[in-house]
Amino acid sequence: MAQQSTLPEDIASQPWDPSTWRSKPIKQSPAYPDPSKLTKAAAELSRMPPLVHPNEINALKAHLREVAQGNAFLLQGGDCAELFDYCEQGAIESKIKLLLQMSLVLIWGTNKRVVRIGRMAGQYAKPRSSPTEIVDGKELPSFRGDILNGYHVDEREIDPNRLIKAYHHSAATLNYIRTALASGIADLHRPLDWGLGHVRDPALKEKYQKIASSIQQTLRFLQVINARPGELETVELYTSHEGLLLEYEQPLTRLLEKPTHPGVSRPGTPPSLSPTIKPVAGSEVARKEYYDTSAHFVWIGDRTRQLDHAHVEFFRGIANPIGIKVGPSTPTEDLLALLRTLNPSREPGKITLITRYGAAKVAALLPKHIRAVEDSEYRRCVVWQCDPMHGNTLSTPTGIKTRRFNDIYSELEQSLRIHKEEGSYLGGVHLELTGDAVTECLGGSEGLDEDDLSTNYTSFCDPRLNEKQALELAFLVADHYSR
Ligand code: PEP
Ligand code: MN
Repeated sequence: MAQQSTLPEDIASQPWDPSTWRSKPIKQSPAYPDPSKLTKAAAELSRMPPLVHPNEINALKAHLREVAQGNAFLLQGGDCAELFDYCEQGAIESKIKLLLQMSLVLIWGTNKRVVRIGRMAGQYAKPRSSPTEIVDGKELPSFRGDILNGYHVDEREIDPNRLIKAYHHSAATLNYIRTALASGIADLHRPLDWGLGHVRDPALKEKYQKIASSIQQTLRFLQVINARPGELETVELYTSHEGLLLEYEQPLTRLLEKPTHPGVSRPGTPPSLSPTIKPVAGSEVARKEYYDTSAHFVWIGDRTRQLDHAHVEFFRGIANPIGIKVGPSTPTEDLLALLRTLNPSREPGKITLITRYGAAKVAALLPKHIRAVEDSEYRRCVVWQCDPMHGNTLSTPTGIKTRRFNDIYSELEQSLRIHKEEGSYLGGVHLELTGDAVTECLGGSEGLDEDDLSTNYTSFCDPRLNEKQALELAFLVADHYSR
């Protein structure tokens, strides 16, 4: 067989449709025991309505352009592995509230608009380093996320019907997010009512309450002068997941009309943030684009970003804003080749580089990655986002997967400093977090130690920050930008 070219310009000139990824080598692909069931599930998915609309997708891309240019900040967070069981009112609300509290702190500190994306309503597929794992002394197929198999030992066989279940759980979660926001959960007149749940640390509580009450005072003043009535009651919250399972993403990818009017004109969206999409005359394809309607934003994981492989092939054809995980195993040359393949027209905000090196490696690796991109034709075109979680995972001597809060804090702090020194802009954070009072990461101001981990360790995948640890990180960023 002829050697395939991996030059970005050659890849970009190849024809594309939502299925061209199937002719490429693929990593992390499951072996389905009954392929006919998979075909049936994919057919069913392809009949389902889109979960999100092109108007929303383009509005997010326009917001991300503002982030890339240094005028806004991106907060993205949620579970490592979302379970179908998390599709429940309390769990969804506590995550929304935490993201809102963090963004309030960030707006106050950075003086910039905050763009919010949940790792929610579809974060069901997990890459695994090994096809099997030992559970209670028994070797079992690895848990690959609720979209493929179950965590329970009796549910480890891959079941294509789970793809349909994933769609319905995404839809129900997204519906509740939309309902909660439309009903005023984000009403800025009530930030103290969002509660600080499990946060008992008086210093952190006081810090947050100071910000919240000063916002309330400002709002009272705005009300008195009748400024922009109705614009402070809601916010936008977009959804995202790793676009790992292409058998799921493909049937939800649709050729849809490009919005010809400014994106979602939600309260509070100023005209400058609206996408300027020019209607293109001519063929149907010119007026339409392929949108992956499973979420507003999808990303390529650290294990699946090979230039000539299936995931990059799929992602190069969709109009959504996309993320690429970047880590110690990313050669600098690959970074530019990926940008040229996935964003040949250099749309600002189209690509978010989600960097995750680990606290011990970030100082050696991040500066050259920044220079490669910012000294190229992609200057101020990408969103730089720090994921201080995935390079800092470790196992305790008793085999519990955890992360030290100090390592997470340190990678974020170093990233902020390095971007500043390089004349670049760290525009976002990507965190694994939950609104519940879990004890999965060590340290933080509660000083959780190894013995405390068993108190409330509920993650089925990576350890998440609890509410208090997450807020502390928001204060770190806020303090950095308010200096
Ligand atoms: C994740 O975000 O949960 C993940 C698996 O990350 P990465 O691809 O960076 O390892
Ligand atoms: Mn993870």
